[in-house]
Amino acid sequence: TCPGDREEQLGASGSLWPSEPIMLGPEGSARQLVLRKIQEFSISGRQDPFMVADLDVLASRHQAFLQALPQVQPFYAVKCNNRPWVLLILAALGTGFDCASQGELEQVLGLGVAPSRIIFANPCKAASHIQYAARCGVQLLTFDSEEELTKVARHHPGARLVLRIQTQDSRSTFPLNAKFGAQLEACGHLLQAARDLGLAVVGISFHVGSECQTPQSYGQAIADCHRVFEMGRRAGHHMSLLDVGGGFPGREGSRAKFAEMATVINAALAQYFPPGTGVEVIAEPGRFYAESVCTAAVNIIAKKESQGPGSHRKLAYYLNEGYYGAFRIFLREPVPRIPTVAKEFPAEPCLFPCTLYGPTCDAFDRLSLNEVQLPELDVGDWLIFPDVGAYKSTMSSTFNGFPIITVYDAMGPQLRSLLETAP
Ligand code: PLP
Repeated sequence: TCPGDREEQLGASGSLWPSEPIMLGPEGSARQLVLRKIQEFSISGRQDPFMVADLDVLASRHQAFLQALPQVQPFYAVKCNNRPWVLLILAALGTGFDCASQGELEQVLGLGVAPSRIIFANPCKAASHIQYAARCGVQLLTFDSEEELTKVARHHPGARLVLRIQTQDSRSTFPLNAKFGAQLEACGHLLQAARDLGLAVVGISFHVGSECQTPQSYGQAIADCHRVFEMGRRAGHHMSLLDVGGGFPGREGSRAKFAEMATVINAALAQYFPPGTGVEVIAEPGRFYAESVCTAAVNIIAKKESQGPGSHRKLAYYLNEGYYGAFRIFLREPVPRIPTVAKEFPAEPCLFPCTLYGPTCDAFDRLSLNEVQLPELDVGDWLIFPDVGAYKSTMSSTFNGFPIITVYDAMGPQLRSLLETAP
């Protein structure tokens, strides 16, 4: 069955609600909460790593998105951070959702989200997941190959299909186009093949790669979509949806880059898809919403010292969260993350080149390929990593028996009252 059909809708009995979030005072910040928790932990002798999710951030990111891109409806990419409170709040704020699998569809439908607010945006899906989408009334599905069309014709002939095209993403931190997206030269054939199978293609999508570094990529991709829209119309499809994907930056401090992207997107929309042409524009932001929601606190469980060139001291800190936990993606980031230190020093401390390792017995389990500069610390000290809300806890494993990191959800009174009044 589809979760939406079940009697016990989320909230009706209370049983499906996630546990109550911590209430932040009007002036409360996630960092203060992290420091308070570290104090509580220290008193009770606990040293396990944890994260705080400041859910208020979601509301401000949503506002920033709508303000910068007024013509674009965000469909949040669930894969980025699927914490129940994150999804509940985004549902209350009115976003749609981009799901990658049956599991994500189940989760979002289970919150009572209407199937019309979901796009199943994985171009290469298992047949059983397509059947599930059909049963639950999720109609928007992406594709980029003829094989996928054959599966959809068999298992979900009423789908509203979105053709994902390739884009230039070589300078994105996480390129996606080697794996997904049809080449422009192949689109005419794919659109005709869909038509021959009796399938409706309604739109075109792309993804410029996650953490895109080149705002201009959106402009070129939207121009390409316009060309493919025309091909679709010539093949007899009613083209009405443009999906500009994800790729937007997530960290505080990346406002200028986001503003540049928005300028490029708005100009390209005005040129190729102006309001009034009846084309709905959506996006699939993940990192933009989630990255600055979470802050992590991790403990130094072991320490080693060695001599570098010129007898300079080098330190290695072994942390209780690492590559196989929530920090898997750190090794793929071009710039190493530098944590802040929770303890206070009487004077500005000397910095040393430090290697940060995770807790498992694998030597690959480290937080960056390069050393980072940190003061001399002791076993038992805490390090704080801000901006760890995107692609972190969702990628965790329990390799070597280390548990998945605990996350404490927190929100302020304004968001709480929004949730209470949300339909
Ligand atoms: N949509 C699709 C299909 C994706 O694969 C991804 C990320 O991998 C996203 C959206 C979200 O991207 P981002 O977090 O860069 O916004």
